[in-house]
Amino acid sequence: MAAVTRLFRSSSSSSSALFYIRRSLSTSAATELKSQTCPPRIDPKGRNVQWVFLGCPGVGKGTYASRLSALLGVPHIATGDLVREELSSSGPLSKQLADIVNQGKLVSDEIIINLLSKRLEMGEAKGESGFILDGFPRTVRQAEILDEVTDIELVVNLKLPENVLLEKCLGRRICSQCGKNFNLASINVKGENGNPDISMAPLLPPSQCASKLITRSDDTETIIRERLRVYNEKSQPVEDFYRGQGKLLEFDLPGGIPESWPKLLEALNLDENDDKQAATA
Ligand code: AMP
Repeated sequence: MAAVTRLFRSSSSSSSALFYIRRSLSTSAATELKSQTCPPRIDPKGRNVQWVFLGCPGVGKGTYASRLSALLGVPHIATGDLVREELSSSGPLSKQLADIVNQGKLVSDEIIINLLSKRLEMGEAKGESGFILDGFPRTVRQAEILDEVTDIELVVNLKLPENVLLEKCLGRRICSQCGKNFNLASINVKGENGNPDISMAPLLPPSQCASKLITRSDDTETIIRERLRVYNEKSQPVEDFYRGQGKLLEFDLPGGIPESWPKLLEALNLDENDDKQAATA
């Protein structure tokens, strides 16, 4: 019991996170919702933040999480990337994962937690600390397990209307060589019910990437619609889970990166000129 208590006390380190992530797969998680209603005061400067990015497929979690990860010097861990790496590795899970992803469904909690544990373990060996999680947790069960093992400080919930999400996913392209994301869609959507119009310029590739663009196999209209349905069914309750804990920061994207990035930094109490060294000095 003492050992368990000790591990719980130090549960913000990724090694104890690993221990509990694995252990929690066979236990039922008890969730204690705290009664706060607003997100905690954020002071990310000079700390190894432990943040989560939530939001529908195509909203831009990867884009903004990777920019923040570079700014704050913490790893950006996207479980969708872990799944894609595994399915292209021709390992034992490869075929099973391809089938699930290409139907727009979620991979089992067990598989995803194993992939995440392996990624954390690797990072720990390299001396990483802190993280920005993108695409995890996606079920309340995953959120409960994460809650048992570590202290998530802030959950950023990125939001865009569904018609914009569809256009963004259909326009998404990836450079098969450097892995960077681009978007060919030029979006101009009239705001409904008093919401503002949304315009996003395409994010075009540089000439060296232009001939190497590929489309994600799950970015077809049918699969995107299914992924949005699955998000509403399985992942929206995760928003409620964190809202109940007072950790959720709602962020309606006002447009593309040029409009949204400065506003997001402002909401997070960050400055573009911050870097990890400056912040800790
Ligand atoms: P993403 O790149 O985040 O859209 O993820 C691509 C696919 O990977 C999803 O449609 C799911 O099939 C799978 N996936 C990613 N993260 C998770 C998760 N936390 N739980 C279950 N499945 C996931």
